[in-house]
Amino acid sequence: MGNLLPFHLKTSKVVGIYNVNENNLMCNCLYLFGLRIKEIPEQRPGVIRIVCVSDTHQHFPEIPNGDIFIHGGDFTYDGRPGAVQDFNNWLGKLPHKHKIVIAGNHDITFQEEYYSAKWTRFHDQKLDHAMIRKSLTNCIYLQDQSKTIEGIKFYGSPWQPAYCDWAFNIEDPAEIRKKWDDIPQDVDILITHGPPKGHSGITKLGVDAGCPELLLAIQRVKPLVHICGHIHEGYGVSETEGTHFINASSVNAAYKQVNNPIVIDIEMYKEENTGEEKEIIKREENTGEETSIKKIEREESTVQELLSTKTEREDSTLFEMNILGSIND
Ligand SMILES: [Zn+2]
Repeated sequence: MGNLLPFHLKTSKVVGIYNVNENNLMCNCLYLFGLRIKEIPEQRPGVIRIVCVSDTHQHFPEIPNGDIFIHGGDFTYDGRPGAVQDFNNWLGKLPHKHKIVIAGNHDITFQEEYYSAKWTRFHDQKLDHAMIRKSLTNCIYLQDQSKTIEGIKFYGSPWQPAYCDWAFNIEDPAEIRKKWDDIPQDVDILITHGPPKGHSGITKLGVDAGCPELLLAIQRVKPLVHICGHIHEGYGVSETEGTHFINASSVNAAYKQVNNPIVIDIEMYKEENTGEEKEIIKREENTGEETSIKKIEREESTVQELLSTKTEREDSTLFEMNILGSIND
């Protein structure tokens, strides 16, 4: 039912994306001349500023100020306690009011199953993964979970298609599809460690390492922003059908810290424009068939319509109840 949603459920919109490295300009003209500029402007009142970075791999880059900080995974090389502690201390010093972190394939001690099976590949002795996980205290850690902050719904997930022998790999496309099926329909900002196919995932060998199943999930959910890392050389931003794709990898393919954190400004739709649904009955002159048009008017006269013929009224009522159900997830 979810992918049939006739209108956008999001309550916020992207008004700017800043601080992207100049050498990573994408061939998207609207982007170059519209939303995105290099310099970070002063934060406007009413705007929520999100700062995102990924794949810091034990580097601690300078982070611009903002309201919400996001890390897209791979904060360590191999999940050692000292590295997690250093990362946690660094998080603690950032001024952002909210901090969201997901794990990446290198944060191996965060996937108990994988670490228990493969620890000898990385460490001389088995580390206490539960204790390491508990030491990450200065953030909201999301693993297949959502969190709403300042009215913006975030969902974070560490999985990716199998890529060498690391944590959070899933080989079977049907299995990874199940993970993405859990992404709620009303997510505004989706954070996954790996990129979707077609965006942000071209390796230095020119291969697209993005997940095809994740792309389908993004096309279903239509988040305002998708944030990832994982393929370091995929750093940059692009936009398709209203979703802004951001690969925020801080290090390059040689694990050198070279890329700027990316700043996203979000504005909420004004409340008076989001509510009231109005029903208008249209009668066809020839057939006499009645059509009910339900409109929700939003800021900048974005009008979303739900059409249903009189004969389909019952189905349509059920349909709307489902929509409300997914809002309240
Ligand atoms: Zn990485």
